[in-house]
Order: sequence, then C-alpha cells, then structure tokens
Amino acid sequence: MRFAKLLLLPLLAVGLIAGCATNMGDIRGFNLISLDQERELGNKFAAEIEKQQQVLNDPEVQRYVERVGRRLLTGTREVQFDFAFKVVKDDSVNAFAIPGGRVYVQTGLLKAAESETELAAVMAHEINHAVARHGTRQMTQQYGYSLVLSLVLGDNPNLLAQLAAQLFGKAGMMSYSREFENQADFLGVETMAKAGYNPQGMVTFFRKLDSMGQSNPSSLAKFFSSHPLTSERIQRVQAEIADLPQKSYPAVDNAEFRRIKGRL
Ligand SMILES: [Zn+2]
Repeated sequence: MRFAKLLLLPLLAVGLIAGCATNMGDIRGFNLISLDQERELGNKFAAEIEKQQQVLNDPEVQRYVERVGRRLLTGTREVQFDFAFKVVKDDSVNAFAIPGGRVYVQTGLLKAAESETELAAVMAHEINHAVARHGTRQMTQQYGYSLVLSLVLGDNPNLLAQLAAQLFGKAGMMSYSREFENQADFLGVETMAKAGYNPQGMVTFFRKLDSMGQSNPSSLAKFFSSHPLTSERIQRVQAEIADLPQKSYPAVDNAEFRRIKGRL
C-alpha cells in the first residue's frame, strides 16, 4: 500500500505538468479588445512612455537589442503585431512589454546580464506577454472594457498618461496574474529553445537575480514585485525545460554582447 502511494506521487506530478502544458500553450484567451484596437492602444502608450522615460540615445545598442528581439520572434507561436524593441535609460533591472508588441529593455537589465542568453531569457518572457496579449486582457479585467476602450479612442489622455506611469513607469509596474506570469515563462522557455538560445539560461539568470536581490535590493525591487522568484517558479521552469525534446544549442558568441555592455 505504501509502495503504491509512493509510485503514484511522481505520476501525479507528471500529470499535473502535462495538464498545465496544454493550457499554457493557448495564446488566444478571451479578449474584448480587437487586434487593431490593441495596436492603437500600443501606439498611444508608446508615445506617452517615450515622453516620460528616456530612450537611450545609442543606435548601436538599440540595433543590438532589436536583433536579439527579432531572433526570439522566430521562436514564438505567432507574430500578430509589428514588434519593436527599445532600450530605456533606467538602471534598475527590468524589461516590460506594452500592448501591441512593443518591448522596452532597461539599461539595468543589460548591465546585470552576463551573456546574450541571459538577456534573451527576460526578453522572451516579455515578448510572450505581448504574444498572448496579457496586457489588454489584464487591463480589461482590472479596469473594465469601457475604460480601456476610452483609452483606445483617445478620450482620456490624462488617464492614459497616468496609467503609462503607473503600469510601465518608474513609479510602478503592471502586475499580471500568476496564471499570466506562468504562461509567459512557459512560452518564453519554448521561444528560447526554438530560437536557438539554451533555455537553461532562464534558470541560471533567475537564480543570479535572486542572489543579487539580496545584496542590492533597490535595483531589483520592481522586477521582484512583478516577478516573484519563488523556488516553485524556478522549479516549474526547470520542469518545462526537461519536457522539451533533447537538443544541443549552438554556442553564443558573447563578444558583441560585451562590446554593447561596454557602451553603457
Ligand atoms: Zn512577467
């Protein structure tokens, strides 16, 4: 009897992970906002964010991050937006995606990452928030459809400016449901693998951030508040990686990554 129970436990665990995996891959959750409306909302948020935050004035660094982003897009389930990748000057460690496929990487993330793969891990997570349209889904749940629609239509520029600061600015960060965070991790792992980045980089970078957070909490406060690095989360990512078909990944040449870091 006891043996039977012991045998059952791992089976249950496998079943849970597999059960998770099928849901996790569904990127077409219920969304009242159309793709065109989401693009429009993205344009409005981007204009506001780029007024409030300083886009790094270094075309070489911008081109590099754009290239890492494009490579990751080859590994996503769908590319339904014109994605754009920009670096903003902010030395806290973070990156964020806004509705409509724009991803912002903060200089603090570039400084904290020690390889292109580590940078790609955080970008892959953020790209998939946009792919699965978590921003508009979360905002509709949180604020209601009519408010989000009024932002799309441009009826309320003051509120838009306020939300741009609150959700994507120095003052705060959009916090997604745990379900959305888990899905962004799951899809991020898949995206990395398909784009040829070793997804193990996500695990090592999460661990590194966790220990960095203990020595320098302020630089990571925003990242942790939106992305708590619990051991459960790291274990889940590890299990998802173990589930992927065996594959060897090409070695990443980090010479350019180091040169880019040197420019910051
Ligand atoms: Zn996230």
